Amino acid sequence: MEQLEKVYSPKKVEERWGKYWEENRLFHGDETSTQEPFSIVIPPPNVTGSLHIGHAFNNTLQDILARWKRMQGFATLWQPGTDHAGIATQNVVERQLHSEGMSRQDLGREEFIKRVWRWRDKSGGTINHQLSKLGASLDWERDRFTMDEGLSKAVREVFVSLYEESLIYKGDYIINWCPRCQTALSDLEVEHQETRGHLYSIKYQFKDSQSSLTIATTRPETLLGDTAVAVNPKDERYQSMIGKVLILPIVERELPLIGDNYVDTSFGSGVLKVTPAHDPNDFELGKRHGLDLINVMNSDGSMNEKAGLPYKGMDRFTCREQLIDDLKERNLLVDVESHMHSVGHCYRCHTIIEPYVSKQWFVRTKPLAGLAIEAVRNGSIRIVPKFWENTYFDWMENIRDWCISRQIWWGHQIPAWNCQTCGKMTVARETPKACSSCGENNLIQESDVLDTWFSSALWPFSTLGWPEQTQTLKKFYPTSVLCTGFDILFFWVARMIMMGLKFMNDVPFRDVYIHALIRDVEGQKMSKTKGNVIDPLVMMEKYGTDALRFTLAAFAAQGRDIKLAEERIEGYRNFCNKLWNASRFVLMNLNDYKGTCKLDLNKKYPSAHRWILSRLNEACGEVNHALKEFKFNDAASAIYKFVWNEYCDWFIELSKPHLYGGEGREVTQNILVHVLEVSLRLLHPFMPFITEEIYSKLPAANGSIMEVSFPQYEENKSDAEIEEAFSTIIDVITSVRNIRGEMNLNPGLNLDLLIKTQDDQQADILEFHSIYINTLARVNLIESNPKVIKPRVSASSVCGKMDIFVSLEGKMNFTEEKKRVEKELKKIEKDIIVLSKKLANKNFIDKAPPDVIEKDNQRKQVLSEKKVRLSNHLETVDLALS
Ligand SMILES: [Zn+2]
Ligand SMILES: [Zn+2]
Repeated sequence: MEQLEKVYSPKKVEERWGKYWEENRLFHGDETSTQEPFSIVIPPPNVTGSLHIGHAFNNTLQDILARWKRMQGFATLWQPGTDHAGIATQNVVERQLHSEGMSRQDLGREEFIKRVWRWRDKSGGTINHQLSKLGASLDWERDRFTMDEGLSKAVREVFVSLYEESLIYKGDYIINWCPRCQTALSDLEVEHQETRGHLYSIKYQFKDSQSSLTIATTRPETLLGDTAVAVNPKDERYQSMIGKVLILPIVERELPLIGDNYVDTSFGSGVLKVTPAHDPNDFELGKRHGLDLINVMNSDGSMNEKAGLPYKGMDRFTCREQLIDDLKERNLLVDVESHMHSVGHCYRCHTIIEPYVSKQWFVRTKPLAGLAIEAVRNGSIRIVPKFWENTYFDWMENIRDWCISRQIWWGHQIPAWNCQTCGKMTVARETPKACSSCGENNLIQESDVLDTWFSSALWPFSTLGWPEQTQTLKKFYPTSVLCTGFDILFFWVARMIMMGLKFMNDVPFRDVYIHALIRDVEGQKMSKTKGNVIDPLVMMEKYGTDALRFTLAAFAAQGRDIKLAEERIEGYRNFCNKLWNASRFVLMNLNDYKGTCKLDLNKKYPSAHRWILSRLNEACGEVNHALKEFKFNDAASAIYKFVWNEYCDWFIELSKPHLYGGEGREVTQNILVHVLEVSLRLLHPFMPFITEEIYSKLPAANGSIMEVSFPQYEENKSDAEIEEAFSTIIDVITSVRNIRGEMNLNPGLNLDLLIKTQDDQQADILEFHSIYINTLARVNLIESNPKVIKPRVSASSVCGKMDIFVSLEGKMNFTEEKKRVEKELKKIEKDIIVLSKKLANKNFIDKAPPDVIEKDNQRKQVLSEKKVRLSNHLETVDLALS
């Protein structure tokens, strides 16, 4: 029999099996298979990405599903791929250029794009390599990239189709603009932060009277672009003034006073300055009233010539200061108050965004949202956990047009060409040779590229071959599950649903599993600056990949946050070692084994064997059930409990009397190896590497464990009667072990055990299984029946409806024991007093964190219980001495 190495060294095992899987194409999703399909598309990591704990978590869960389904016999495809990550990738290459003293403008667009591709070919494979190390069973032969030829074709097809249906348009629009990144941001890319600023009250004079209105604003520099002043027509204070003309301070432009219901009568004085080019609400208001758009800023956030002198060229914030000074000088500044308000920041660089009018491309989303809402309402798509559905509906019902143009170079350049001769635009699938209006060959392509989310919205069908009607697309679309974090429910999930329904006439996935986000043990977001990051690559190196994977699965409770600590990973490394050592024990006892590790269902196995088989069956049931519901943590916990407690801790011990008792050795070998083999299959999706390694040494091994079926629950394999009996036996053994510990008895000492049972039937069960009790608890069960009386000098314990007595007569030096117990009791009493005083101290209770108080309370409880046990024990000792 081939043996396992003495110590489990994850690295070697991981390398061996990683290579084996790849060489044998075990991750390949076969589109020609006749089996039922199961497919997942990976949320494409950025091509610039490096594996962080969020990736490790998300992909471990997907891998568990993929491996589970594959073993269940489904034609399984887990589709890999990376995202071109427009701005992130462009930044990386720009930084490189910068270090060479160049800018992208120096290179020019074409050369720059070539340079990005070179970077991608050389360095873009990092994240895939890391995923592969994680054991992710992605079909690497099908690796895709959002900028590859096929996906680019899909992007063009979708863009042009939507444009032809007027679902894409170009228009003047007020957008969120990052002056630093020099690009438009979607509403979702703006982070709103409560910020302390100022509310400036400014006097606007009427043209033909001495009176004035006071207007409050947080951004006085936008005043330079005002084109009206507005009040609410229902506001009695100002009703009569509507139609009069005001003079814009400093600039001295004439402004009409208009009435609009949008104006909030309770904000400031109830009068609003209207700057359509620099505020999204004013923009809408301006459209309603036909107001001019005066853009007073440059795209870098500095003031332009429309702002006039002396402001032209100033940064927007410098301009603010200058303007306030100038207003003060002219006695036009009425008041300045400190003011908390929400300010939008760029999610990439945290610069304050500027609402800015420019020509942008949009997807008209309302017509697409209807079906997408319906798909979730009618259950075609299931969102798990269900509480996210409301968030989804909320957002989709209030959806705004999606700004899809970005002012960068790296990405899908918008397939629209402007004719320099006639001024008309040509939008086309293939790069046109001539203008579609005038026929002249004088075309310049739009310089903007598409939002990265535009291509990822097509991911579930574009990766499978669309717009070609491939066999793969037919086999694997719609996909089965999407596994993602809630932070991109809108950015990505909702948009995939809209695009899938539009272009495939079917949902892109059946289930959306939204997992929680991983935080540090205090519940803080992990960040490099805080130094609280748990790096999955370091953890894999330190504890082994399987330990990391199992930890992540065990923590995957459905909710919002997961608090992860390194110690937990270490804990599951111990689980790996435990499994390894138990397997070594089994293998070492197979030297004379001739069996097949298949069960003979006609055979009447010994009780312990029947018990472990029944428990194993239950565990199979629990794991399958939990995975079906995406309760990864329940599944992990069921396996852990079974493997660690029931198999390693109990069954291996229970098996020893049979294994070494002459009779029953072969049967016991059979059960030991059978249960191990099934457990490995059950555990494989969670811990792929160690399970392969151990499995490969088993007599039944044939190829990879991945190719063997996943264990299922089978009703006829459950044995309630034996489970009940063993729950009693285990309780008795545990009670005796506890007594031994409390009484400070030598572990090797053989003790006499008496049990007062509830009835004769229970006594029979105990008698029948006395071999297990005697061996594992090191006792002689000398009496068990309902009439047992407590021996004079004995330790006792209540165990369910039984009373357990361990006779102590002649088993220890009672004089010494009395001294020891009295000493220990004194110490405990002292500790209790200290803790009680502390907990009665109001000062402490008021100031200490709740978890500290909770810990002290628990400690006090533990000590008090111990005191009771020791006092009882002392009574026994006294009795023995009397
Ligand atoms: Zn920015
Ligand atoms: Zn033309």
